[in-house]
Amino acid sequence: MKFDQYRIAEGIKTSISKLGFKKPTDIQFKSIPPILKGEDVLAIAQTGTGKTAAFAIPVLHILQENKIKGRPDGVKCLVMAPTHELAQQIEYVFKSLGRHTRITTFCIHGGVDQEPQIKQLNSGVDVLIATPGRMFDLVSQGALSLKRVEILILDEADHMLDLGFIKDIRDLMKHLPRKRQTLFFSATIDDKIKDLAYSLVINPIRIQISPKDPVAKNIDHAVAFVEMDDKRFFLESLLKSSPDKKILVFVRTKVRAERVKKAMERVQLISDTIHSDKLQVERERTMHNFRNGDLKVLIATDISARGIDIPNVEFVVNYDLPETSENYVHRVGRTGRGNQKGQAVSFCSEEEKEMLEQIENNLGKPIQKMKITKKDYQITLDLSEEKVNDWRTLMDEAEDHHPKNKKAATRRKKKKKKS
Ligand code: ADP
Ligand code: MG
Repeated sequence: MKFDQYRIAEGIKTSISKLGFKKPTDIQFKSIPPILKGEDVLAIAQTGTGKTAAFAIPVLHILQENKIKGRPDGVKCLVMAPTHELAQQIEYVFKSLGRHTRITTFCIHGGVDQEPQIKQLNSGVDVLIATPGRMFDLVSQGALSLKRVEILILDEADHMLDLGFIKDIRDLMKHLPRKRQTLFFSATIDDKIKDLAYSLVINPIRIQISPKDPVAKNIDHAVAFVEMDDKRFFLESLLKSSPDKKILVFVRTKVRAERVKKAMERVQLISDTIHSDKLQVERERTMHNFRNGDLKVLIATDISARGIDIPNVEFVVNYDLPETSENYVHRVGRTGRGNQKGQAVSFCSEEEKEMLEQIENNLGKPIQKMKITKKDYQITLDLSEEKVNDWRTLMDEAEDHHPKNKKAATRRKKKKKKS
């Protein structure tokens, strides 16, 4: 099946082919027809499988068909997303696919001035993408009406629940018409999500695509056993051997993110960080630079990188193993998007071996182990350009890793901030 064969507006087909999509992914193939028919859909598919376009394509078509010429009369489709970055990404997909339609798309989230957002809403928006916080602010001020919403979409529903938005979602229903089409998209499903989903949808079509291996086939992932204190040398070596690659590095905490950035600076490697301690404008600038390739190395914490889709991330490095096995799947899922190939490596220290076992249990199979001989290991350390003179920093770094010292690390950080 090709996109050509779908009964969707020509303008949308043009945009699809401009994006380089030739045929639908599994989830698109299964979701587009029922959505076009107006049915409620509960769709579960792993990360990076094209869920955004799976709802954006049919929704744009429906709205385009029903659009009343020249009259802005309220939001027709509301998409809820858990984070700013995701909301913006969904906006981008709607805008790209809707370029040759008359549908207007707009995204609202907190952290920025609300006045321009209100102005834009007044001038007419068909598809509104929103994070819960700012949306409720605007609704309670009377600046946003949801009375005309015909289609509600909850994207990355699992993440919304993880981030504690369940009450917000339930409250939202009070503002929406009862008669509507509801689409529910999630990467994972458990009882909590099932309960929420079934309380929102009416006779939904349930589509689940769950391959045996939660990590997509096109992602080549392996683990390297590296001691905690040596991780930075291995990252240095990896970055130097792939100077042109776009690399996403995951660390356990915000403090670690900044430390790793500094360690890379000491050896003349440029990187940047993204985490919740940074201002919204900084986060946006960093994401923008990483997206367009000006920034090659991004160091991120789990939350900040949830669900984000950055083109051409060629390498994911788990500098620290994630704290849950689900996050492993989410992290490596940041590479190998769509039909591209991706590579991921995890640095596992002695104290993280237990976690590795849990991750492998969750995957249902072992992760490939990289063979590093003692000699190669030593060469990696010897080749480092780091001239270690800042012993205090290095000791802090090592210390942070013992769970009993996590509190001490936080205290130290606070003290530093004050001084
Ligand atoms: P998910 O929400 O399932 O994690 P996304 O919607 O973010 O996935 O899409 C992942 C990537 O796949 C994006 O870069 C997108 O452009 C690409 N993609 C989506 N649909 C197709 C398709 N039909 N053919 C090729 N690439 C696609
Ligand atoms: Mg998604």
